[in-house]
Amino acid sequence: MNIVKKKQFKAESKKLLDMMINSIYTNKEIFLRELISNASDAVDKLYYRSLTDKKVKVDKDDLEIRLTIDKDNRTLTISDNGIGMSESELEDNLGTIAKSGSELFKENNDKKKDIDIIGQFGVGFYSAFMVSDKVEVLSRSIDSDKAYLWTSSGASGYEIEEAKKDSNGTEVKLYIKESNDDVSYEEFLQEYNIELLIKKYSNYIRYPIKMLITTKDKDDKEIKEDKTLNSMIPIWKKSQKDVKDEEYNDFYTDKFYDYEKPLKVIRSEVEGRCSYTSLLFIPSHAPFDYYTKDYEKGLQLYSKGVLIMDKCSDLLPDYFSFVKGLVDSLDISLNISRETLQENYQIELIAKSLETKIKKELETMLKEDRENYEKFFKDFGMQLKYGIYSSYGMKKDVLQDLLIFKSSKEKKYVTLKEYVDNMKKDQENIYYACGESIDKIDLLPQVETVKDKDYEILYLTDYMDEFVFKMMMEYSGKKFMNVQDEKLDLDSDKEKEQLEKKNKENSDMFTSMKNYLNDKVSKVQFTHKLKNHPVCLTTVGDVSTEMEKVLNQMPNNEGVKAEVILEINENHPISKKLEELNKKGKTEELEKYTKILYSEARLIEGLPIDNPTELTNLVCELISK
Ligand code: ADP
Repeated sequence: MNIVKKKQFKAESKKLLDMMINSIYTNKEIFLRELISNASDAVDKLYYRSLTDKKVKVDKDDLEIRLTIDKDNRTLTISDNGIGMSESELEDNLGTIAKSGSELFKENNDKKKDIDIIGQFGVGFYSAFMVSDKVEVLSRSIDSDKAYLWTSSGASGYEIEEAKKDSNGTEVKLYIKESNDDVSYEEFLQEYNIELLIKKYSNYIRYPIKMLITTKDKDDKEIKEDKTLNSMIPIWKKSQKDVKDEEYNDFYTDKFYDYEKPLKVIRSEVEGRCSYTSLLFIPSHAPFDYYTKDYEKGLQLYSKGVLIMDKCSDLLPDYFSFVKGLVDSLDISLNISRETLQENYQIELIAKSLETKIKKELETMLKEDRENYEKFFKDFGMQLKYGIYSSYGMKKDVLQDLLIFKSSKEKKYVTLKEYVDNMKKDQENIYYACGESIDKIDLLPQVETVKDKDYEILYLTDYMDEFVFKMMMEYSGKKFMNVQDEKLDLDSDKEKEQLEKKNKENSDMFTSMKNYLNDKVSKVQFTHKLKNHPVCLTTVGDVSTEMEKVLNQMPNNEGVKAEVILEINENHPISKKLEELNKKGKTEELEKYTKILYSEARLIEGLPIDNPTELTNLVCELISK
């Protein structure tokens, strides 16, 4: 007599089941990944048993997972010839949700979060109910001659009865739901689609996943052909020497939707507290949405060849967000990872080790393949700089040696280390100048004097550059100095003394000049910073004129102003002229000269002038004299 046992699910299992049945989760397709992964585990278990138990004989080549579609009855069956389940195992394993699963429940009471977790790790067997009205599990344990059929139509409970099965293993039969207005379930009954899903989620399962596929023979007659749907050995598991560069490149362009091959392929195998294989790519150009908020960083995360997550963002720091690729780890299993990802210690370990690896590879590229590095830096350098800036300099140690800047000597890119190594004996600072382009920067009056001293200047043409230097404060004990900073001082002690004296003598004149300019400058003074140019503007304090420009382009800017000093070349004939006008009490003319000089200085800096008409009138008046 066939005894049928009717049972209720345990409370927590019931909750999870409810959630699955009523799931609004859009990624319903992941049920297949879960069931395939269970089947693969069952085959694994049998295989390991055979290694230690002489009674269990297994021919490795026979191990397989099989999919069967029956369109007429709307069923999809996932079968394996693995270890199987006894009656009590069916009850324990499928009637109660695993302990880790119940913990997931306690931690995540609100529904939204649960749904995210389905996306991240899946919740095993019960996900079958996202797509099925009824599930039958026919199983025979390797330790028994008897087979049992477990049946459930969801929340009402399940039944177990004795059944017939010729050999060990498990068949999970899903009665696929009817489609409704919102969701189409038909795709789970289509060979083509199932094949795509296997390729997407389970391509690298170690056992063949087979299915009878309908094709046409040469007479156009439909025939059934047995096909292995998965490739089984992932490219990142193949021995390095067996994979050609081309294959990596094809894999990258295919998988990460790029039309250009990657700039660099980084493959590593790590054994240790957390063992993993990774295959990373540095793209040769930034994706079109890279610098927008739509761009999502992350690496694919595999556990023993099973895709668990498509974009695991915790594996990459923001400043390396351009890296594409994947990580496959034995230590992150579908079972143990039912906790929120952020708290996963393994992920943290892997992320740390990847960061070091990426940094090292970039450094090597910088040293050995400068051309490609410059290409890389053009597209992604901004992200590295932003890493320093947004961490308030805390990430400086990781990133500072990856930065390159065009420099005044030879006009090529140099690293900060190269700059410092090339510094003159008497040089104290790292000099830089800001502007839109190198040509424009070269026209800055102060640049000439610094160059005359044979000091190298870094050209900062990116709007973020100076902010980054401010965050870094110094490199290798050398301070950064904007050539337009008032503090720029290249004089000898004697020259300094003489200049100070001169400035003191003329302090009244400078006060008047400052007044003529309605306090648009905080000070007027003579300088030795200039060689041939008559005037320049310098800034005092933290905000330079270049930073003022950037800050004021930002939304909600608070009208930040750089504190500006008007400096006049003491060695230029204009300084004598000013002194003369002042001595003779020709205040009206002194005012006109002051206004012209100030406007000139602004023009040189690339700053707008307040009143162009006034300036042109003044110049005309003077030249017609
Ligand atoms: P998980 O696989 O994450 O432990 P599941 O709910 O998917 O959780 O499965 C529960 C248990 O049921 C598994 O741990 C396993 O012992 C058993 N099981 C599921 N599918 C199979 C299968 N095809 N063959 C043998 N045992 C299985």
